[in-house]
Amino acid sequence: MSTPVDTTAHLAVLGAVPRFARPLHVGAPNIGDRERLLQRIGTILDTRRLSNFGPMVRQFEETVARYAGVNHCVAMCNGTVALEIGARALELSGEVIVPAFTFVATAHALAWQGIRPVFCDIDPRTHLIDPDRVEALITPRTTGILAVHLWGRVAPVERLRAIADRHGLKLMFDAAHAFGCSHKERPVGGFGDLEVFSFHATKFMNSAEGGAIVTNDPELARRARLMSNFGFTGLDRVEALGVNGKMSELAAAVGLNSFESMDAWLEVNRRNMDAWRRVLAPLPGIDLIPWNDGDMHNHQYVVCEVDASRAGLGRDELVAALRAENVLARRYFYPGCHRMEPYRSHPPQGGWRLPVTESVAARVMVLPTGTAVTERDIAEVGALLEDILDHADTVRAALAGRDPGQALEAQ
Ligand SMILES: *Cc1c(COP(=O)(O)O)cnc(C)c1O
Repeated sequence: MSTPVDTTAHLAVLGAVPRFARPLHVGAPNIGDRERLLQRIGTILDTRRLSNFGPMVRQFEETVARYAGVNHCVAMCNGTVALEIGARALELSGEVIVPAFTFVATAHALAWQGIRPVFCDIDPRTHLIDPDRVEALITPRTTGILAVHLWGRVAPVERLRAIADRHGLKLMFDAAHAFGCSHKERPVGGFGDLEVFSFHATKFMNSAEGGAIVTNDPELARRARLMSNFGFTGLDRVEALGVNGKMSELAAAVGLNSFESMDAWLEVNRRNMDAWRRVLAPLPGIDLIPWNDGDMHNHQYVVCEVDASRAGLGRDELVAALRAENVLARRYFYPGCHRMEPYRSHPPQGGWRLPVTESVAARVMVLPTGTAVTERDIAEVGALLEDILDHADTVRAALAGRDPGQALEAQ
């Protein structure tokens, strides 16, 4: 006997038409003023300055440095290369302690430089590297800590600084999520020895592709800039090993355009976050992670944890049901870097022990926001989620035939 289909539900997983004709993405790019961008591109073409530390890049660097409250900004072609050059500029080698609950670029940037990422577990409440677990991972080969301001929430900067100083380690932050965020009135940018931003299309502020190293250390900034341009100090003079990490004038033009819309985008993200709060509050088992009211957030990620026992559905089932409706929720940063290659095949003795990372990675669901998502969209997703939870048993039965994880892989 087949399971009777609940026709009252009108859910795509039960065969109905998807609720959204147009997909709602996590990280749909924010687009600035078109006319202003075309003007800037016109200037670039008129002056024939396409790259090599041109005026757009200089202005972009000054703007980033001002917002981040730092003395030096070196713009780069993307955040990953900025992380790699940052690690080089700090002369990191051997082992570096890093969370596994992050985008894989954080770990890859180290491994690509021949540095072994040593994964540290996270705090279950903040999802940030747990400073209580860092010291146990320090060995004679450890040269630094690379922490992440995950979701735009500032990492435990004071505790990490104290640990780094006690053990003579360098301290670097992956601030890819945290442009425009602050902690105790201090903007992200000046923490640690250096910080790295990403201005990738999917980030809150974008230059299509782009990144930057920011620091208050003039010598570090000089080295990073040198490395980003093959080590050239003059026309025919190369003074160091380097790579090509430069940002182009076109990317800088897109970045400068983004800055002109930054306040408006922040306002949209705040309004969307309030809408998500209203919509999710009455739903059992879908809990937005709490934010510290004293700090500035860019709210580029709407992050919740799914408690299967209260929601009646697991995170993967919920994400699969939403994706069927064209609400493209994500399981960031599943399954954790330690379960990706090459790290999965090269665990330390005894294996990676990251129980909190594992449990958080199994619960987190990230919902769409940004300027491509309206309050009305969010209200509709709210109604949809209510329907899904109301018909949890039917939804689970419908998904039972397929492995929800596999259904997600396929998309
Ligand atoms: C996006 C991202 C990066 C990489 O930045 P790109 O500009 O895409 O190279 C690094 N770390 C984290 C945490 C990110 O989210």
